[in-house]
Amino acid sequence: MYKQPEIIAIDGPAASGKSTLAEKLAEVLGYFYFDTGVMYRAVTYAALEAFQSVDDEDQVSELAEVIEIDVRPASKKDGRKYDVLLTEEDITWGIRSPEVDANVSKVSAYPRVRKAMTSQQRRIGQRGRVVMVGRDIGTVVLPEADLKIYLDASVEERARRRFAEQEERGVKLSFEEILISLKKRDQYDASRAIAPMQPAEDALILFSDNLSAEEILKKVIELVLPEYEK
Ligand code: C5P
Repeated sequence: MYKQPEIIAIDGPAASGKSTLAEKLAEVLGYFYFDTGVMYRAVTYAALEAFQSVDDEDQVSELAEVIEIDVRPASKKDGRKYDVLLTEEDITWGIRSPEVDANVSKVSAYPRVRKAMTSQQRRIGQRGRVVMVGRDIGTVVLPEADLKIYLDASVEERARRRFAEQEERGVKLSFEEILISLKKRDQYDASRAIAPMQPAEDALILFSDNLSAEEILKKVIELVLPEYEK
């Protein structure tokens, strides 16, 4: 008999459409959506605020071990999908800044930072009925996931999407700057020693260059809910 996946892992490079897919999929299934990138971004944001730099590994790791990051339902209608709180400070947009983009891969490669974040993510994921998004969900955080998807797209296409998103939010970065920043981040994320970004052996790899967000969602829903009629 068909058993619907209870734990769904979605990994892939920056701006591949993971969050959009995961959020909509979770909505259709009535599952909890959790974007793990938020946690690494929050640690990076906090470290930049506290130390103006993320270079001191011990200092950043200690911070990651005590930090209180909370993700709650959206309290404002400014395009946010949820609130991200650092203690009580609203850092929802702060974690999307170019400075955080430029530093987050360095922070996320620190072993103690990963350990602290991974254990919290596992606790959330193991409750089930969850769609969790990141770089290492299918390989490290929840290798027991019932369905693993690795969503990929060319770096040019991803830069185009990120450029459009940022323009809408009034962030003034050129297409070239975004392209360079994405390439750097991917390279760093894919080559780190611990939990590098890569598809799990049993992941379904989807390439989204020629597919709209709706088409990808449809493909995945057909997989998860074979009986589902749109
Ligand atoms: O997904 P997002 O672009 O918000 O992730 C920001 C960064 O956090 C990634 O570039 C990566 O360095 C790190 N990350 C990670 N493992 C995850 C999720 C994010 O290392 N599971």
